[in-house]
Amino acid sequence: MAKAPKAEKTSDLAAIARERGIAYFLIAYVDLFGATRAKLVPASAIGGMQKAGAGFAGFATHLDLSPADADMFAVPDPASLMVLPWKKEVAWLAADLWMGGAPVPQAPRVLLKRLIAEAAAKGWRMRTGVECEFFLLSPDGSAIGDTGDQADKPCYDQQALMRRFDIIRTICDGMAELGWGPYQNDHEDANGQFEMNWEYDDALVTADRHVFFKFMARSIAEAHGQRATFMPKPFPHLTGSGCHAHVSLWDKAGARNLFEDAGGELGLSPLAYQFMAGVLHHAGDLCALFAPTVNSYKRLNAPNTRSGATWSPNTITYGGNNRTHMVRIPEAGRFELRLMDAAVNPYLGQAAILAAGLEGIAAGRDPGRRLDIDMYRDSHKAKGVRRLPLYLLDAIRLFEKSAFTRAAFGADVVASYAKLKMAEWDDFSRTMSEWERRNTLDA
Ligand code: ADP
Ligand code: MG
Ligand code: MG
Ligand code: MG
Ligand code: MG
Repeated sequence: MAKAPKAEKTSDLAAIARERGIAYFLIAYVDLFGATRAKLVPASAIGGMQKAGAGFAGFATHLDLSPADADMFAVPDPASLMVLPWKKEVAWLAADLWMGGAPVPQAPRVLLKRLIAEAAAKGWRMRTGVECEFFLLSPDGSAIGDTGDQADKPCYDQQALMRRFDIIRTICDGMAELGWGPYQNDHEDANGQFEMNWEYDDALVTADRHVFFKFMARSIAEAHGQRATFMPKPFPHLTGSGCHAHVSLWDKAGARNLFEDAGGELGLSPLAYQFMAGVLHHAGDLCALFAPTVNSYKRLNAPNTRSGATWSPNTITYGGNNRTHMVRIPEAGRFELRLMDAAVNPYLGQAAILAAGLEGIAAGRDPGRRLDIDMYRDSHKAKGVRRLPLYLLDAIRLFEKSAFTRAAFGADVVASYAKLKMAEWDDFSRTMSEWERRNTLDA
């Protein structure tokens, strides 16, 4: 794993500002829809803000609060501090939301931390890596930013990758500067699509970096006249943007990977299979978190793309080093969940994996036999296979009525998320489409 660049000697943000020449801090939190909200605080005021938090009106963001609710306070976590590589006088801080002297339970970072504490109480520590795919588009988002990027099979296209060298390099240098251990960048399977990889770490560290990565990619793309988007399926005929998560569980000290077992099937321990079985078992109920937008379901269950494969799952199945299943075991000691898409809320995605895994272990679940078939071509050969929800509406309904989600996240948190997502679905349903007009005018 990557080494932190230089660990701060103190958690006193005012002192850090003086030492590192930071003029402003962004105190940021992520709401239930994954949007990052922030206040820009001058270094002169950071001492007070560090203690009391920055004030926000909860109703103004997606947290299912009312305009009459008291102020929320975003209390920054000094361990999350990242100086913006492209604007070094500003530092970013992930914050936890408080209201009336208590943490806000539906605040995504608060929720993830609660599950991490639950795992820690059992002596476990989840480590994850995420693969953020994204598109570089024209500034208005309507077209692929590079008009020369038109190949039918554009994956790993060297020429198209290097036409975007200035953007990719600036982001990658930024990750290196922040100590994330970036190790590869490529052109992905859709025109205009890229992926940049950095090393895995503790789930909270990865989630904070994931939030920051999106901020950095968007900012640097913008500075180069492009628009970075994490929309799961911006073009129906092209491969969508996934956000695969690689998962392992370690002992408390972080010294031993408890998923690794040289004698186990594909190098995975019985504990790993139980955890994975939990993720498989609850995948349908959690889909509203892993694939959270209306658009997400145009990536899942999609017809083949121009490149020949969607690379996204349709079925709740697992295999070995085989990318046609929802869960893949690429090597000993970890599994990959391919369900999450690029719009996933970085904290809720991790929280969902951990909750499902912990339940899988507690229940001693068994994932059944692995499928070694090409699931895109031969799914008819597999009997009794469960499929993923077809639409966001189906996913919300599963999420809302699941006894598991309510036990894991709290009934109120589930109700809040389901309510906001259902309102989003209703809003979408009321939108008239060109398709309706074409196919109904003469009905
Ligand atoms: P893929 O083959 O799926 O394209 P990538 O190389 O793009 O894989 O991404 C793999 C991710 O998995 C990286 O973030 C990497 O650090 C992470 N990873 C590797 N080993 C582990 C592990 N034991 N636990 C969690 N994540 C891991
Ligand atoms: Mg005001
Ligand atoms: Mg990858
Ligand atoms: Mg990829
Ligand atoms: Mg992958």
